[in-house]
Amino acid sequence: MALLRDKPAVTTDGIRIHLYTNTGLLSGHTHAFEVGTEGIGLYRSEFPFMNRDNFPSEEEQRSLYRQVIETYAPRPVTLRTLDAGGDKMLPYLSFKEPNPFLGWRGIRLVLDHPEILLTQVRAMLLASHGHDNLKILIPMISTIEELERALALIHQAYDNVKDEDGEIKFPSIGVMIEVPSAIYQLEAILKRVDFLSIGTNDLVQYLLAIDRNNERVAKYFDPLYPSVLKALAEIIRTANQFGKPVSICGEAAGDPALVILLIAMRVDSLSLSAGALPRIKWVIRSFSHARACELWQQIQRMEYVDRIRALLYTELEQHGLGELIRLGNNSHIQ
Ligand code: PEP
Ligand code: MG
Repeated sequence: MALLRDKPAVTTDGIRIHLYTNTGLLSGHTHAFEVGTEGIGLYRSEFPFMNRDNFPSEEEQRSLYRQVIETYAPRPVTLRTLDAGGDKMLPYLSFKEPNPFLGWRGIRLVLDHPEILLTQVRAMLLASHGHDNLKILIPMISTIEELERALALIHQAYDNVKDEDGEIKFPSIGVMIEVPSAIYQLEAILKRVDFLSIGTNDLVQYLLAIDRNNERVAKYFDPLYPSVLKALAEIIRTANQFGKPVSICGEAAGDPALVILLIAMRVDSLSLSAGALPRIKWVIRSFSHARACELWQQIQRMEYVDRIRALLYTELEQHGLGELIRLGNNSHIQ
């Protein structure tokens, strides 16, 4: 893999897709560099909030974020604001809900406690001192009201920090597209932010009404359903129209079959686990954009997920990538 590590993820006809890694921990960076990561596409900031018995202070957070920002600089580091709730409960903020995935999670939770978001964003901004590789990503946006309130708090934190440290730059701000309602508000969202990142773990869960963690229904959790593909194509097309970068950061970014179609849709980047990065780079370097477009044309007329997957698997085999199917035949299941 050493040779592959140093090569760009570019199709045989010259379309470049940036490959970033997902993290939330202080470890694992060596592996990410070994496989040639171009930066962090998703830092799940709730992880360091989870193994404790109280909220980390601003200084504790600043120090954590600083280590990541410095380790990767000048590569981009996308820090997502706290996405607690759902299946990611904080022991010191435990509450019982009948439907946690439809409850107090992600941005909703911190908008009800703005001091959490203000402290966290201040810590992120202070951690970026002297670097300009910080990007901030907002999870679980479902309405423009939520987005505007979150942006106002980020600006408030910035104004505040700037008075203390005039050198801190305002970071680019992105939104996770993972709640289906956001797909119908893409233009309004894109007018307000710099980039999008598609969270397929939640987007597929909410589009298909499949609990992402329930083994009994895991066989239905597939991003290749025509409804999901249409949603992905629409998000990517609209972002491209606005000239704003769009990435995929859910587990589906590591699914070789889906990646062929993402090449056709012109996704700008993928963010995935370090373990999945080499095989996805291999897929991108083996296909042409032109061939991916032919397949996508054909697939848009298909109605059955099994046939879509079978067609893409045959194509992977024909490109000498059959090994990836056997390796990653569960890669669409997180
Ligand atoms: C997602 O929903 O796809 C995502 C990347 O976020 P998480 O898995 O942390 O909810
Ligand atoms: Mg999510």
